[in-house]
Amino acid sequence: MSKYDVAVIGSGPGGYVAAIRCAQLGMKTAIIEKYNTLGGTCLNVGCIPSKALLDSSHHYEDAIKHFEDHGIEIPGEVKINFKKMIERKGAVVEQTTKGIEFLMNKNKIDVFTGVGAFKDATHIEITGDKNETIEAANTIIATGSKPATLPFIKIDKERIITSTEALSLKEIPKHMIVIGGGVIGLELGQVYRRLGAEVSVIEYMDRIIPTMDSAQSKELTKVMKKQGVKFYLSHKVSAVSKKKNEITVTATDKKDKEVTFTGDYCLVSVGRRAFTEGLKPENAGVKITERGLVETNEHLQTNVKNIYAIGDVVKGAMLAHKASEEGTLVAEILAGQKPHIDYNLIPGVVYTWPEVASVGKTEEQLKEAKVSYNSGQFPMRALGRSRASGDTDGFVKILSDKETDEVLGVHMVGARVADLIAEAVVAMEFRASAEDIARMSHAHPTYAEAVKEAALAATGDRALHV
Ligand code: FAD
Ligand code: NAD
Repeated sequence: MSKYDVAVIGSGPGGYVAAIRCAQLGMKTAIIEKYNTLGGTCLNVGCIPSKALLDSSHHYEDAIKHFEDHGIEIPGEVKINFKKMIERKGAVVEQTTKGIEFLMNKNKIDVFTGVGAFKDATHIEITGDKNETIEAANTIIATGSKPATLPFIKIDKERIITSTEALSLKEIPKHMIVIGGGVIGLELGQVYRRLGAEVSVIEYMDRIIPTMDSAQSKELTKVMKKQGVKFYLSHKVSAVSKKKNEITVTATDKKDKEVTFTGDYCLVSVGRRAFTEGLKPENAGVKITERGLVETNEHLQTNVKNIYAIGDVVKGAMLAHKASEEGTLVAEILAGQKPHIDYNLIPGVVYTWPEVASVGKTEEQLKEAKVSYNSGQFPMRALGRSRASGDTDGFVKILSDKETDEVLGVHMVGARVADLIAEAVVAMEFRASAEDIARMSHAHPTYAEAVKEAALAATGDRALHV
C-alpha cells in the first residue's frame, strides 16, 4: 500500500494548490480526483469557461454595437458561430486543466483518478479505473460544491439547467429565465443577452448581488437594464414546469400577485451547496454540519486532528482564490508554520461588463456595526481613460474610518475593476488610510485614477476632476 504524508481529496483550486504547497514544503503528496480532468469546478465548469464565454460574447457585442462609434465599419452582417464559441471555450478549459497535470508532474505529486472515500482516519479507498487504498498521515478534504436548487424544481439538464449546462448549450436560447440575480445569474445572463436572447432575471431579494454594496447593485441594475436584461426583484419563485420545449416559471411579487414567465430555457442559479457525497466522512468520524459543510476550527482542522478541510466544502465565500489561500494555509500548518488568512480582505468580483469588485466592509455592514465612516465616490465617466475607451459606466467608492481615516471598504463598478481591486487589497493589507492612497501617484490616463480620486473624495471633498 502506498503511504503519503498528505492526501488531498479533490483537485479544484483549493485541492491542487494545497497539493503543490505541500510538495514544495517537502511532503510526499497524493491528490485524488473523481473526474478525468483536474482543476475542479473552477477550471472545468466554473471560473474559466464562464470567463471564456464572457470574453467571446463581449467581442461580439463590441462588433455589433460599439465598433461603429470607433469608425470601424464591417461590410455585411456580423454572425455568431455559437458552436465555435463553445468549442473555443472547451479548448481554453482543456489547456488550463492540462496545465494542472503539468504542475502535478513537476511537483512530483501522485495523481489518483477515482472517488476517494475514507476507510478510517488514515486510509482512503479510491474507486475508479483501478481500485486501491492509500495510507495518509494527514488528509485535506477539498471536495468543493455543486449547484443548489429549490425543492420544487427538477433540473432536467436540458431546458431547466444549472451553470454547468449553460456553459455548453447547443443553441442560443430565445428567452432564458434566470432564477437568482447573484453572480452566476448575472454573468451567464449577460452572455446570452449579448448573443441575442431575451433574459429575465427573477430575484427573491429587493436587489441583485444582494451581498455586495447596494450602490453596486443599483449601478449594475441600471447598466444591465440598458443592455436589455429584465429584472423582477422581490419575486418569490413557487413553481417551474416544462411542456415540450416550453418552460413556465411561476412567482409571486411583493404584493403577493402571481406572475408567470414562459421561456425556452430556465437557468437555476440560487447558490451552491457543499459536496461530500461518496466521501464517507463518517468512517473517519469527521463532523458535517446541518448545512452539509465539513466542520472546521480556525485552522481549518476538522474534529479529527489529522484531517483538514478547505474551499467550498467549508464555511465562507465560495470563491476560487479563497479556496487556494486555504489550501496554502493548511499546507503551511502541516509544515509547522503559523500562516494566517484575513477573510475580510478576500475580494469579490462579478465579471459582467462593467465589472463589479469589492473588498472589506460594505456601507450597509458599517451602518449595522455602527461604525462612523467617510465615503468618497468618483464616477468613471469623469476619467479621460474611460472616455477614450467608451467605458463610462460605474464608479469607485472608498469607505474610511471617520476618526482614523483607515480604509474599511472599497467598492467598484467599471471597466477592468476586477484587476483594479488588487490595489485596494494591498492598501488594506497594509492598513492604509484614504489619505495614503490619495497621495500616491497613479499613472495617467488609467482607470486606476478613479481610486486616487475616490480616496481624495473620502478625505474631504478633494476630488480633482469632478
Ligand atoms: P471545486 O473546484 O468544486 O473542486 C472540488 C473537486 O473535488 C471536484 O473536481 C470534484 O470532482 C472533486 N471531488 C469531490 N468529491 C470527491 C471525492 N470523494 N473523490 C475525489 N474527488 C472528489 N470563483 C471565483 O473566485 N471566480 C470566478 O470567476 C468564479 N466563477 C465561477 C463560475 C461558475 C459558473 C461557477 C459554478 C463557480 C465559479 N466560481 C468562481 C466559484 C469557484 O469555482 C469555486 O469557489 C471553486 O471551484 C472552489 O474550489 P474547491 O477546490 O473548493 O472545489
Ligand atoms: P449567489 O449566492 O451569488 O446568488 C444566488 C442568488 O439567488 C441570490 O441573489 C439569492 O438572493 C437568489 N435566490 C435564492 N433563492 C431564490 C429564490 N427562491 N428565488 C429567487 N432568487 C433566489 O449564487 P450563484 O450565483 O448561484 O453562485 C454560486 C456561488 O458560486 C457563489 O457563492 C459565488 O461566490 C460563486 N461564483 C463566483 C463567481 C465569481 O467570483 N465571479 C462567479 C460565479 C459563481
